[in-house]
Amino acid sequence: MHDNTYLPDHFLRHIAAIMPAHLSMDEFVASCRRPLRRSIRVNTLKISVAAFVARMQPLGWQLDPVPWCDTGFWLSREDESVPLGNTAEHLSGLFYIQEASSMLPVTALFACEQTRRDGMLLDAAAAPGSKTTQIAALMNNQGMLVANEYSSSRLKVLSANLQRCGVTNVGMTHFDAKVFGQWLPETFDAILLDAPCSGEGTVRKDEDALRNWSIESIDEIAAVQQGLLESAFHALKPGGVLVYSTCTLSLQENQAVCQSLQDKFGDAFSFDSLADLFPAAKQACTPEGYLHVWPQIFDSEGFFVARLRKHHSVPNTMFKPGKLGKFPFSPLPAKESAPMLREIEAAFGVVPQGNLFGRSEEIWLFPQLFEQVQGKLRFDRIGLKLAETFKKGYRLTHEWALAYGDGASKGFVELDIADAREFMMGRDVWPEQEAAGTGEVIVRYQGHTLGMGKWVGSRVKNALPRELVRDNNLFV
Ligand code: SAM
Repeated sequence: MHDNTYLPDHFLRHIAAIMPAHLSMDEFVASCRRPLRRSIRVNTLKISVAAFVARMQPLGWQLDPVPWCDTGFWLSREDESVPLGNTAEHLSGLFYIQEASSMLPVTALFACEQTRRDGMLLDAAAAPGSKTTQIAALMNNQGMLVANEYSSSRLKVLSANLQRCGVTNVGMTHFDAKVFGQWLPETFDAILLDAPCSGEGTVRKDEDALRNWSIESIDEIAAVQQGLLESAFHALKPGGVLVYSTCTLSLQENQAVCQSLQDKFGDAFSFDSLADLFPAAKQACTPEGYLHVWPQIFDSEGFFVARLRKHHSVPNTMFKPGKLGKFPFSPLPAKESAPMLREIEAAFGVVPQGNLFGRSEEIWLFPQLFEQVQGKLRFDRIGLKLAETFKKGYRLTHEWALAYGDGASKGFVELDIADAREFMMGRDVWPEQEAAGTGEVIVRYQGHTLGMGKWVGSRVKNALPRELVRDNNLFV
């Protein structure tokens, strides 16, 4: 019980006025004070759900399925001495720690045939990346996903999460998401706008979430949300699908934002009913067909999800192409890329997918659809940095290993648990059970990649990026 959860009276009066008749305020308050159940989502870019369950159950992990996400589970562990984020499975990207209700928007986005898995998608407010990684997994790293985030510090976290999870089809941008309707009209097959909001649904994880709560601040955020939704709508192709979501409860930031779009564009789009999204969805469904998830319904955080499909174009008074600097990359000539790809395949038995581009000493693998947005938007990172070149050759990157290492059929070394812990603490290891090799080597633990190393005699020299080195309380 979180007795210190801050639930001011003026907030409770505001909520009581909008609580549906079949739900009780007492249960609302009780659930706000109850700690959240832990939940995770299996990253199917790296492991199947069945293999993950088979791996974790013997370690005392109890995994109870989240009914609206077939890769999501509530988790209880017999031994909680190692933080979840320090487990080997987290470090090698096998799962993402994600609140169960926050899995809903992406489920809604993909539960319709219009969302093409190999299409051009946009995640307009993406950091820290729980939904970006969920989308990328459902796209199976195909097509292209533009993941945008306005806050610089959160952009770094997003980048780290994409790398850890082996995501290769994302282009990351750093803008106020209002630019998409201006710069990229009718470009995206599907869009998620998981909007910045007042966070009323998050008190179970942050007891101070409502410290600065006021009607005025809600109205202010609602105006921002309306602008973002209108812009996202312009960026959506006719026939495309858009999900608008928040982790807040007030009508102003949810139903009213949807209504404002309807008032503007009338029959150019319609909202889908989400009542059948999963068996119990009706319990959270509004008359308009949105999901308004009160925390007491599914014992989760509060959430709001609406899905619309665009029927036809609308006049776009926003359109104004953005100013771009010089594009710093150029396609790698075939005489350089072909031998490199052949060498990688010969050494590791995997072929990197995508188009190779170079920028000074860096070689990148861009998503196949990148050319559709090339020259229209400035990106902070595109796809995956494959290698860094130096005078005598090149060095494959940590992020390449995290994305491709699990699929390698050779050129890897399997560590035992003691060596794996040493490796994640930044130290070199002497794997006893393996014959020494030469050159770069993918370092794995129980079949999943931890990073890159280099054979020096019988020692594997540690090439883990310094910022990923952990000092203690690692997996047991
Ligand atoms: N989708 C994320 C996830 O699932 O991990 C959570 C997104 S959070 C609800 C909203 C994000 O929008 C925050 O990271 C915030 O920094 C960002 N943001 C705020 N204003 C923005 C704007 N004008 N354009 C784009 N992003 C914005």
